[in-house]
Amino acid sequence: MAERPDHMDPEEFRRRGHQAVDWVADYLARLDDFPVMAGVGPGDVRDRLPDAAPEYGEDFTDVLADLDRVILPGLTHWQAPGMYGYFPANSSGPSVLGELISAGLGAHGAMWTTGPAVTELEQLVLDWLVAALGLPPAFRGNGVITDGASSGTLCAILAARDRAGGADDLGRMTAYVSEQAHYSMAKGLRVAGLPDSRVRRIATTPDYAMRADHLAYEIVKDRNDGLLPFFVGATIGTTSTTAVDPVPELAWVASNFDAWIHVDAAFAGTASVCPELRHLNAGLDEVDSYLFNPHKWMLTNLDCSVFYVADRRHLLNALATEAEYLSDGTAAALAEGDHETVDYRDWSVALGRRFRALKLWFVIRHYGLEGLRAHVRRHVAWAKELAEWVAADHRFELAVTPVLSLVCFRHVDGDEASRRVMDHVNNSGRAFISHTTLEDRLTLRVAIGSPHTEHHHLQELWTLLRAAA
Ligand code: PLP
Repeated sequence: MAERPDHMDPEEFRRRGHQAVDWVADYLARLDDFPVMAGVGPGDVRDRLPDAAPEYGEDFTDVLADLDRVILPGLTHWQAPGMYGYFPANSSGPSVLGELISAGLGAHGAMWTTGPAVTELEQLVLDWLVAALGLPPAFRGNGVITDGASSGTLCAILAARDRAGGADDLGRMTAYVSEQAHYSMAKGLRVAGLPDSRVRRIATTPDYAMRADHLAYEIVKDRNDGLLPFFVGATIGTTSTTAVDPVPELAWVASNFDAWIHVDAAFAGTASVCPELRHLNAGLDEVDSYLFNPHKWMLTNLDCSVFYVADRRHLLNALATEAEYLSDGTAAALAEGDHETVDYRDWSVALGRRFRALKLWFVIRHYGLEGLRAHVRRHVAWAKELAEWVAADHRFELAVTPVLSLVCFRHVDGDEASRRVMDHVNNSGRAFISHTTLEDRLTLRVAIGSPHTEHHHLQELWTLLRAAA
C-alpha cells in the first residue's frame, strides 16, 4: 500500500519535462508524415487501453509510449500542413510553452487577489490587442478571455437580457441572427431561456451577408406585436463562407430600437492585425460587444477566445457573484493603489480561471505584430491564388469570392462530382477539406490556416483536387 503519493520532485519533473518537450518536438518534426484524418473507427482507441485505472503508478516512459501506440493513430492532426477543414485551430511553439508554464504555475485568476498577475496580464494583453487590431477605444479595459466564442456570445446575450429588463421580461423578448450565423448564437439564446420561436433568422444577400432591411422589417413587426427586440447577433466572417455582415447598418437599426448588437468575428478577427484588412472592423464603434478567437488564427492553442464590451455595466449586472465567502481584500487593495482592479469571475460564467493570457502574451512577444501579419498575409495571398486556379479550371466554379483565407467552390457537374473530389482528397491522407451547403448545393471549403502549410502543400492539394475532377 502506498503511504504517500508519488509526486514528481522538481528534479524528476525537469527530467520528465525534457522528455515530454522532446516528444512534442519530434511530433512536430513528423507532422507532414501522418495521415491528416484519424484512421480509426468508433471504439478503436478505447479498445487499445485498459478498462480500469491502474492501482499503482506507472512509469512515465510507458505513458509516453502509449501516446505513440494508441493516441497518435487516433488523432486528427489539426496542425498538419494538409489540414484545410473547418476553420484552423492554430498552435505554436511560444503558445505551447506559455501553456506549459501556466500549468506549472497552477495559477488561479478568479479574482484579482487570487492572482494579481493573472488578472493584470489579461487586462494588458487585451488592451494591446485593442490597439493592434484597430478596435474601438471603448473596448480598452473592457476585455476578458473566455474558453470559446460560444461562451462570449452567451455572455453578450446575458448582458443584453439584463439591459432589456432582466429575465423577468424574457417572455416578451425577441432576438435576431442571420441565416448564416454560427449555431452558438441560437444555442446561447436557448441557454439564456429564449424559446426558439422568438429567434428570428434574418435573410441574407447573394453573398450571404445579413440584410439590414429585413432586420428592420422584423424588428418593427415584433414591436408592433408588443414584443421586445433585445439582441442582434452579427458576424464578421461566417463559418460557411466568411461573409461579412453590414455591421454599420445593423448597428444603426439595433440602436434605433434599443437592441444590443453583438459581433462574432471568431475566425476573421485576427485579420485586422493587418492594416489593409481593417475595413473588416467597419461599424465596430457602434456595437455593444465583440469577440474573436486567437485559438483559431492567432497562433494560440485552444482555448483562448477574447470578448469585449463597450460598457461593462450590464455584463457585470448579469454575472457578478455576491457569494460572501469569496469577498476578500480587493476593496482594500483598490483603496491603496491608483489602479483599478477587476475580479474576472464576474465577467464570464466560470469561477475558476486559468492563466490563459500567458500563452497569448508569449505568442505576441515571440512573433511581434509584424510576425502575426506575415502569418495572416501568406494565407490570404494563397487563398487568392487557389481561387484563381479554381476559376480558371472549367470543371470547377467558385461559390463566392474569398474574403480572407477560405476558398469555397464546387464541381460544375453537381453534388455527386463535388463529393467525389472531396472524398479523393480526404482519402489521400495528405490533405483534408470540409464542406458546407449553399442554396442546397454541396460546396467544398478549403480553409488555409495551419502554421505548417507551405506553398508546395497548396500545390499538392490542387493536384489532388484536379485528379478527381
Ligand atoms: N462563431 C463562428 C463564426 C465560428 O466559425 C465558430 C467556430 O468555428 C464559432 C463561433 C464557435 O467557436 P468556439 O468553438 O470558440 O465556441
